[in-house]
Amino acid sequence: MPGINYFYPEFEVVRNDARCIRCQVCARQCANEVHSYDPERDLMLSDESKCVNCQRCVSLCPTRALKIVKSDCRLRENANWEGDTIREVYKQALSGGVLLSSMGNPKNYPVYWDKILINASQVTNPSIDPLREPMETRVFLGKKPEKLERDENGNLKCELTPQLELSMPVMFSAMSYGSISYNAHESLARASKELGIYYNTGEGGLHEDFYVYGPNTIVQVASGRFGVHRDYMEAGAAVEIKMGQGAKPGIGGHLPGTKVGPDVSRTRMIPEGSDAISPAPHHDIYSIEDLRQLVYSIKEATGHKKPVIVKVAAVHNIAAIASGIARSGADIIAIDGFRGGTGAAPTRIRDSVGIPIELALAAVDQRLRDEGIRGNVSLVVGGSIRSSADVVKAIALGADACYIATAALLALGCHLCRTCQTGNCNWGIATQKPELVKRLNPDLGYKRLVNLMTAWNHEIKELMGGMGINSMALRGNRLMLRGVGLTDAELRILGISHAGE
Ligand code: SF4
Ligand code: SF4
Repeated sequence: MPGINYFYPEFEVVRNDARCIRCQVCARQCANEVHSYDPERDLMLSDESKCVNCQRCVSLCPTRALKIVKSDCRLRENANWEGDTIREVYKQALSGGVLLSSMGNPKNYPVYWDKILINASQVTNPSIDPLREPMETRVFLGKKPEKLERDENGNLKCELTPQLELSMPVMFSAMSYGSISYNAHESLARASKELGIYYNTGEGGLHEDFYVYGPNTIVQVASGRFGVHRDYMEAGAAVEIKMGQGAKPGIGGHLPGTKVGPDVSRTRMIPEGSDAISPAPHHDIYSIEDLRQLVYSIKEATGHKKPVIVKVAAVHNIAAIASGIARSGADIIAIDGFRGGTGAAPTRIRDSVGIPIELALAAVDQRLRDEGIRGNVSLVVGGSIRSSADVVKAIALGADACYIATAALLALGCHLCRTCQTGNCNWGIATQKPELVKRLNPDLGYKRLVNLMTAWNHEIKELMGGMGINSMALRGNRLMLRGVGLTDAELRILGISHAGE
């Protein structure tokens, strides 16, 4: 009984036999071994129970003979017991284990970005053409002085605590070496350098080959302290303390031992083949005072030359938490919303814990303003920033910059099959298998990232120009936003008026 698979495969392989030339490209490209060739019958066969719909075979089939479709063979579902829910019960009855998933929360919660509209100038307030007029998207992240001061000669005193300078208000979010491949990391590092932005090591340490990208690297210190040592801290442009992650608030990280090969093991400073499990809490942090100690320990260790970021998941009392962090000495707060991606998370946590980044951001920005400490920190938000429009809306809601991860992986070829946790990524991204890793060419990967960011930066300028704004003075200008189809409570938290008002 326990070994019986109770359900029909989720996807079907539709192969047009008239087009198929039996080249077996699909069989060679599929790490999940869906396709095989039967020489006796000269037929390509499919084992659809293994298909994750990553679209690798579809993309590379030379004759366009393949389609993967969602199976229309449905379980006996209803509005309460949907097919996925039933399937998950079957899976747990079979395995007895916690359900694991990857990428972000796919549930049908409101996407507030899609319910917020941006203003544009008409008649009385001229718009700005970014092709013909100067437009500044550079931002500096870090603590800002409360007021402008001048010396005895009347010159502006410009001494600032360490800042991160970004050519545009977007960075690549934390993705560890181990959860993603060497070639994916190289692509992110090279793109960051070319763009003048930053990528983030995540909790996996920094591979020795990537120290040269240190000036564009944010190094992370997570509860497991994997790969954390003096040279690592010295190498980064900023240090991020990871207290939480949007995809799995309240729990630690887990990299399966199958992804811990020699290189990952050396970088993380853990034995080869061992599971890398970071604990849920930092065992030395039980209060804001403890966090402050770690912030200042890191500042001491790095000669007070690097901004310290504290990253937290967006949870119910995020405004109060952020207020504490802003008083802890941190220079930047990174908030990760509940749709943030991950290499692996318990499905129930990913889909049920946390709050949307839009609400968290608005609440935090307002709280810090109300308390007069907004200038103590910069705010970076992530957790499903999908486009330049999301970036502009986030900035108008109060963010200084955005973190992106899933969009960056899509630029590298990810097809959102949501099976990163298996280590069998057919696109060479979320895998450590050499034969798969080499499918992602970093020479092309980094250019695609540069293209994506260049396009977004241009769109950000166009959107700002449309509003008649030519710099990141847009930050926190909620008058530029209107809501559609939102309740009074949602509008109040977002601090915006309804469209038409
Ligand atoms: S890749 Fe396309 S043409 Fe080649 S065997 Fe597979 S389905 Fe047939
Ligand atoms: S990174 Fe790879 S495994 Fe993960 S969702 Fe994208 S294509 Fe699938």
